Amino acid sequence: MEDNRTDLDALSLMPALFVGHGNPMNAIEENRFVAAWCETAARLPRPRAILCISAHWETDGTRVTAEERPRTIHDFSGFPDELYAVRYPAPGSPPLAERVRELLGASAVRPDTDEPWGLDHGAWAVLRRIYPEADIPVVQLSLDRTLPPRDHYGLACRLLPLRREGVLVVGSGNLVHNLRLLDWRTDRPFPWAAEFDRLAAELVRAGEHDRLADYPALGEAARLAIPTNEHYLPLLYVLALQQPEEPVVFFAEGVVYGSLSMRSLQIG
Ligand code: ZN
Repeated sequence: MEDNRTDLDALSLMPALFVGHGNPMNAIEENRFVAAWCETAARLPRPRAILCISAHWETDGTRVTAEERPRTIHDFSGFPDELYAVRYPAPGSPPLAERVRELLGASAVRPDTDEPWGLDHGAWAVLRRIYPEADIPVVQLSLDRTLPPRDHYGLACRLLPLRREGVLVVGSGNLVHNLRLLDWRTDRPFPWAAEFDRLAAELVRAGEHDRLADYPALGEAARLAIPTNEHYLPLLYVLALQQPEEPVVFFAEGVVYGSLSMRSLQIG
C-alpha cells in the first residue's frame, strides 16, 4: 500500500524547471534554446501558478513578490528598444506569496510590499516565451545573498508541497556564467566552461546534490564557471525539489559566447 501511495504522489507532482536564460535577447529572438524551452513547457500540465527563482533578484534576507500586478523590470542596459518595449502583464498571486512564507517561515521571508520588485528579466524573458498569454499568476522569490549555497538548498527543500498544489517552480539562471570572460564572437566553449558544464551534468544525473551545493570544492573549472553564484543558485532550488527515483531530463544544452551555459533541465 505504502509503495502505491508513493507512486500516486509522484504522478501528481508538478515538474520543476531550471532554465538557462542566457542573453536577454532570448526574450524576443528565435533560436534552438528558446524552441526547446517552448517544446518542454508545452508538454507540462497547465500550472495553477508559477514560482520563479531568478538570478536577478538578490536581497538581504529572503523576499517574495506580493503584488497583484507586478511590473516588468528591464534590468539590463545597451539592448535594442524592442526589448525595452516588452511587457509581461501576468498577474501576481498574493495567496501564493503567503503560502511560500508559510512554507519557509513567515518571520524569515518578507513580502516586498514596502519596496515592490516586479518581474525581472530572469523571469519574464523565459516566461513570455513559454507562456506568452501571460495568464498564469507569477510570484518571484529572491536569493538571500547572505546565505551559503547549502542553506539555499535546504530552504528550497521546504517548497516541495507547492509541486503537489499545481505550482510550477522555475529556476532561471545559468550553470556556467562568467560575463567578464564572455566572447560575443564565438560559440565555442572555453575548455573550463565545457568541463564544468559536463561535470555538473554528470553530478545532476547521479543525484550528487551535496557536491553541487558544495561547488567551490569542485576545483578550478567551477571557480571560473561560478565567479559569483547568483546564476548558479537557482539550479539548487530546482534540484532540491527532486524526489527519489524522479527522472531528470536536460532539454537544452550548449555553451555560447565561450562562457555561458544554456543547459536547462526538468525534474519530474
Ligand atoms: Zn542573467
